Amino acid sequence: MRIRTRQIITASAALVAVSAGVYLANAVRVALLPSTIEASVVSAHTEVVPHAKPSGGETAHRLCDQLYKTVCQKRGVTHDPTGVVRPDMDGEIRALRTYEEIIHLHPDWTSEQVDEQLVKEIFTPTRRARVESAYQWVKRTMEEFINRQPHETFSAQEKKQLKARLRKTKLELPPPVSVYADEPDLFTKNDVFYERLANGDMRMRVGGAYLLSAKSWFNLVFTLAHEFAHSIDPCELRAADLSIPAYDRIYACFLQNGLIAARKTRQECGENDQLSETFADWMAVQVVAEALSHFSTEFHGNQLANAATNSVRDLCEQGESPSELNLDLHPSPEIRIDRIFGHNPRIREVLGCGPVTPSARAPASAGLIDSSYEYCGFGFVPKALNIEAEKL
Ligand SMILES: [Zn+2]
Repeated sequence: MRIRTRQIITASAALVAVSAGVYLANAVRVALLPSTIEASVVSAHTEVVPHAKPSGGETAHRLCDQLYKTVCQKRGVTHDPTGVVRPDMDGEIRALRTYEEIIHLHPDWTSEQVDEQLVKEIFTPTRRARVESAYQWVKRTMEEFINRQPHETFSAQEKKQLKARLRKTKLELPPPVSVYADEPDLFTKNDVFYERLANGDMRMRVGGAYLLSAKSWFNLVFTLAHEFAHSIDPCELRAADLSIPAYDRIYACFLQNGLIAARKTRQECGENDQLSETFADWMAVQVVAEALSHFSTEFHGNQLANAATNSVRDLCEQGESPSELNLDLHPSPEIRIDRIFGHNPRIREVLGCGPVTPSARAPASAGLIDSSYEYCGFGFVPKALNIEAEKL
């Protein structure tokens, strides 16, 4: 079983970002960042930061009302204090270029030697350390999130089961080249994915191009948290014969709020069901909210808004045709960014946004939302149950 987040992108030269390398904000104290990132924080030109606002800023206020549009229609890259996110295609082109250069310099090498050199140049110790530390940070944050849930949400036994699955999900990163021996294409791909093997092993892999395109720690956190979440998503639990009542509640909330496409042909966890992807996004948003609120005392103004932007920047359409967007399994970028991410109360708080306005709750055509709208969580009580409760 394999669950992929990123889609293969059709080449389009227009998509290649013209951007300088990573540059980072001035004098940011990054106490909570892993040391490998801290070491790379350098003084550089930054965007003008509005004065002394504890959170929010001009960009943040645009984000509050029009998050999807602001994030996805922005030209060029956004600089947050930890880096940028370039278009997926950019990373793939850079990886392929590295590959070509190696072949050009060493025409006599075998393909194994070329791959070894490619891995050495892309999966550098610094980049590996960044991914590994983000992986550990995300794992710990998700475990803490599970621990924090009240016993009405998860029993002690359920918490144990969920955490055991998180811990079982191993990160696989080359070198050696042999780590991806069954999938050498990954060295030059943007794919980041979770998969469960026939023998029950669970693993996460990170394509080489992703390391080149996504430098922002916040994007890394969202991406790894999304993949980690698949290890405990409703469909994976079902495949493991685990049943957790709180999952039924959040599932009902996703459906009621139109965060899962209500297709007539939909079969729960089937090939055109968005349940597992919506869940993985929702869980990743909890983790990013944690990351952003940690840094809300360190970063301010546009820095926070840019960090939020970069965490979901690569969920935008990137020139794909609708058929390549894979909307069978994923909600549209607009739903993912505006509603799963942008309506999260903690994200809104960090950005200095007020409550979600009624008109922003859902597209009018959905007709699914009424005054009982709330951001989905495990404690969701379906409306039908409310009516029953009133009768009692
Ligand atoms: Zn996914």
